[in-house]
Amino acid sequence: MHHRTYVSHLECSKTGERLPAGKLANLSPSGAPLLVRYDLERARREMDRDRVALGPNSLWRYAPLLPLRDMAHLVTLGEGMTPLLDTPSLAQRLGCRRALIKDESANPTGTFKARGMAAAVSMANELGVKKFGAPSAGNAASALAAYAARAGLEANLFMPRDVPRANVVECQSMGANVTLVDGLISDCGRIVAERGPGEGWFDVSTLKEPYRIEGKKTMGLELAEQLGWRLPDAVFYPTGGGVGLIGMWKAFSELESLGWIGPKRPKMISVQAEGCAPIVRAWDAGANESRYWENAATVASGLRVPKAIGDFLVLNAVRESGGAAIAVSDQDMLDAGRMLAQTEGIFGAPEGAACVAAAQRLLREGFLAPDDELAIYNTGTGLKYLEAWDPAGEDF
Ligand SMILES: *Cc1c(COP(=O)(O)O)cnc(C)c1O
Repeated sequence: MHHRTYVSHLECSKTGERLPAGKLANLSPSGAPLLVRYDLERARREMDRDRVALGPNSLWRYAPLLPLRDMAHLVTLGEGMTPLLDTPSLAQRLGCRRALIKDESANPTGTFKARGMAAAVSMANELGVKKFGAPSAGNAASALAAYAARAGLEANLFMPRDVPRANVVECQSMGANVTLVDGLISDCGRIVAERGPGEGWFDVSTLKEPYRIEGKKTMGLELAEQLGWRLPDAVFYPTGGGVGLIGMWKAFSELESLGWIGPKRPKMISVQAEGCAPIVRAWDAGANESRYWENAATVASGLRVPKAIGDFLVLNAVRESGGAAIAVSDQDMLDAGRMLAQTEGIFGAPEGAACVAAAQRLLREGFLAPDDELAIYNTGTGLKYLEAWDPAGEDF
């Protein structure tokens, strides 16, 4: 298959400083996440949206808008092109015209973390990395373990001791080096930052390298494609580090530059858990950045991120979109998740369930209208969260 990428350079998300693409990079010189930029004018002349569907049935149909230069370096397990499910019974329960679930549980390792890691590991593979280091709340570790195993590379993973058991078993089964830490993901991140350079690990922490965003932006590209090159009225996204929300916002702007969609954007709704809601607190205060959230606690392990390095990018996107940031309680997310499972047969992650609870509330409060069309990201499978769904470990 003919392949070319339109990648042009890397850009500091704070200062706009340009760095060359095609070199290993972590944060920008000013300590901010790097964004991958493309020659979209040329892509606009040469690409045809009607030909996208002729590509592979995975996120790699978007390879020209991804940074990999040589497909020989690709590390894939078939990630992406997850179903966008029309869920009329859920819509009726929520009280809106149409609800769509983008069901990310269909990804390798059961969560959308596969998208980011497929891109990051492929790029690292292209750039000669042999060993990875990463902190994780659980699912990023599982995805990294899988892609590292697939590529024959080494994964060194640091997770909080109380991470869902499925993640630990999964990572160990795939041959990763797993260390359980008495602390939060931020403590794990510190260990990787301290030990990594001496051990020769490439740090693939959330937003500390530029390519996981690129993998996750394909959620936004696919949403537009699956809706026939238009976008819904609102997008609900469970926000931990915020990579997916930042990525989708970037995807929408790239699609408009290509002329594949118009200027209409969905309201971006950033959903967090009441037990760890630094972005929501910043949003409510009208701040541009979040502060560290003390004693972070929620069954939605992917949302247990007390301080996100890309918080300002999330807050920007939410603001520009006319969206909102809201927090829901663990009880409300579990109730909403059972409702989703019972009405539509989708057994989701608590993070996805949090979005259903948030949709319920924003429709009830009138922030969204009954005529709206909602896209809700179920970011993972409920099967990875048996402790959350059945805390007593009962037999039903
Ligand atoms: C990591 C994770 C999230 C949060 O994703 P970010 O893009 O880092 O905000 C949400 N849901 C699940 C299931 C996750 O694993």
